[in-house]
Amino acid sequence: MANQKIDYVFKIVLIGDSAVGKSQILSRFARNEFSVDSKATIGVEFQTRTVVIQHKSVKAQIWDTAGQERYRAVTSAYYRGAVGAMLVYDITKRQSFDHIPRWLEELRGHADKNIVIILLGNKSDLENQRAVPTEDAKEFAQKEGLFFLETSALESTNVETAFLTVLTEIFNIVN
Ligand code: GDP
Ligand code: MG
Repeated sequence: MANQKIDYVFKIVLIGDSAVGKSQILSRFARNEFSVDSKATIGVEFQTRTVVIQHKSVKAQIWDTAGQERYRAVTSAYYRGAVGAMLVYDITKRQSFDHIPRWLEELRGHADKNIVIILLGNKSDLENQRAVPTEDAKEFAQKEGLFFLETSALESTNVETAFLTVLTEIFNIVN
């Protein structure tokens, strides 16, 4: 694994309101970890994980916001070169879903036209606090041509599937 040949590097960006679980989704995918006392992200950073798709090794370089989730605070450097995006809201926070159209607009304003986007409703383990019906999100995603999944970084539900969905779609576009 150490000297593994890399066939592709795909940059993926995580966006969405503060506290929806972006950093935990990333650490679940990149390191299979969830930290209970996660600090707010400081400084732009990315993590990587290499997966195999159709016998090719694909390195996902996943960027996490630097706590710059205020509207328009994420800079264009963050989006530059991104071929995939994960647009995250919290199923227990209606406001984080209501802000998704803004994030999408900002993403489409900065990123490549052909960027692959998945909408993620995170914290699906908190079903008893749900504020966003699955149907609402599904409908929105369909209308906007986005993939859609509900995830739990805490319980590790659908996180792997979410990344593999995006990576495989990008892979199919470039091949
Ligand atoms: P970010 O600001 O979007 O990066 O959000 P964080 O990843 O820092 O998470 C914000 C808070 O939500 C933290 O207290 C996390 O422990 C919590 N959290 C993240 N993902 C989940 C999840 O899937 N389920 C639950 N119950 N809590 C989560
Ligand atoms: Mg964060």
